Amino acid sequence: PGEQLPFDPEKKTVVVLGSGWGSTSLLKTLDTADYNVVVISPKNYFLFTPLLPSVAVGTLNPRSIIQPTRYITRHKARTVSVIEAEATDVDAKNKTVTFIDNSEIKGTTSSTTIKYDYLVYGVGAEVQTFNIPGVQQNAVFMKELHDAERMQRAFMDCLETAAFPGQPTEEVDRLLHMVVVGGGPTGIELSGELHDFLQDDLKSWYPELAGKVKITLVEALPSVLPMFSKQLISYTESTFKESKIDILTKTMVKEVKERSVVLQMPDKSIQEVPCGLVVWAAGNKGRKITQDLMNKFPETQTNRRGITVDDHLRMKGAEDSIFALGDCTATSYAPTAQVASQQGAYLGRVLAQIARKDGLEAELKKLEAVKAQVGASQPEEDKQKLEKDIEGIKRKIANFKPRPFDYSHQGTLAYIGSDKAIADLPFMNGNIASGGVATFLFWRSAYLSTLFSLRNRTLVGTDWLKVKLFGRDVSRE
Ligand code: FAD
Ligand code: NAD
Repeated sequence: PGEQLPFDPEKKTVVVLGSGWGSTSLLKTLDTADYNVVVISPKNYFLFTPLLPSVAVGTLNPRSIIQPTRYITRHKARTVSVIEAEATDVDAKNKTVTFIDNSEIKGTTSSTTIKYDYLVYGVGAEVQTFNIPGVQQNAVFMKELHDAERMQRAFMDCLETAAFPGQPTEEVDRLLHMVVVGGGPTGIELSGELHDFLQDDLKSWYPELAGKVKITLVEALPSVLPMFSKQLISYTESTFKESKIDILTKTMVKEVKERSVVLQMPDKSIQEVPCGLVVWAAGNKGRKITQDLMNKFPETQTNRRGITVDDHLRMKGAEDSIFALGDCTATSYAPTAQVASQQGAYLGRVLAQIARKDGLEAELKKLEAVKAQVGASQPEEDKQKLEKDIEGIKRKIANFKPRPFDYSHQGTLAYIGSDKAIADLPFMNGNIASGGVATFLFWRSAYLSTLFSLRNRTLVGTDWLKVKLFGRDVSRE
């Protein structure tokens, strides 16, 4: 690495790509005394994605659900280098990463390449548009912090424009029709949050618009939330019905226009539905850098869903140096925060074991060099001791067998609006499905306790209290 990095030539260098669920969890666990550690991510913070939909409707302040990466690394045993940059290329043969500064302000240097001994690859995924016309231009996403902020601005703009004096009724109806595409957990949670806003705040802030807002959730498959048990799907559907959220299943979005969305209905007919806002929550795909990296291993990396890893999270084809985790991988696990964070913690522990093994190998090399120098005049006793030491180290190295990654599923939770949540929780060898207000309280406390820092817990708790006391913030930046 360059001179500015915390470089100790005695130690190996671990380069961590990304600052999301996988990489942040790794950083928390990793003993930085073992390595030179460099983190590269275009975001210099960790984003607590489960609460992103709450930001989109102004329940939470955007700053409450992010945590600077340096907040974690500053407490580490040795300095960790955090670089705000986007990795653009991984050269797996020469073990280098190239990255660029793609922020607004650039210095004279904005691109560089560094070497790694081990690469932790956790760049996540990006929004899948399926190249459907108009999605990129006319829909808002729900993936990054700026997406939620953008949605809040657009949503408030729809309300303010609908409230403009003399707006024709038809236009008011269009502006107040919110379409959410995707019946996965993101689309469901966002629809629930939108409903809460309308229920709790619209009447007092925009009395003239109350009752006129319509939410439609569009899902291509026959049912929403396929990962939840049947009874919770029915519970969600009936809660949405009570909340007056229309669910259109077996309906596919074919185009998103500036003022409407084009739907293919279950009977294959095409309908153009006027709307003010389209939120695209239709799933994710791999990033370009991931595809480029996979293309370098045409024989082993053939899964189109993402990077293939072995059960120790080593990338197939680059087992000696690249570990991949989270949404950029294709495994038998769902691409969730729960999986990514457990993988990160696992890798942190494995890297500690690898550091010990690397230490032993270095020691072995030294002893073998000594052995090669030993002359005939050396006392026999010394020679035997040297041989014994060498054998001892070899045995220790042979015993190095890190355990494979073992995922422990803690349950699946989702907020569905109206202070209700659903949860499929593993219990004994079965499953408990629960839905309702108590599950919602559990949902909140579960999230509060998993939020990374006391600082974030306090910020989120305070935001929730503020909303209870004063309502949501409807100002539009
Ligand atoms: P991410 O957390 O996405 O992190 C990827 C990181 O890589 C980011 O820091 C990004 O900036 C960085 N990066 C991107 N490109 C580059 C590059 N070129 N070079 C370097 N770094 C790069 N899962 C759950 O289990 N429970 C939930 O309740 C839940 N709710 C969710 C709600 C929403 C709205 C969303 C969008 C997702 C939710 N998920 C949930 C899914 C969960 O967020 C993902 O599975 C998780 O973020 C995956 O972690 P990751 O570390 O692989 O990727
Ligand atoms: P998803 O892939 O789970 O769901 C996207 C949905 O959009 C699919 O059901 C798909 O059929 C539908 N779709 C795609 N194209 C469409 C089109 N043209 N028209 C209509 N519908 C279309 O995506 P997600 O909800 O963002 O979730 C992504 C991952 O994050 C999942 O693994 C999920 O489990 C996880 N997540 C979990 C939680 C939670 O646990 N509470 C919350 C959010 C996300």
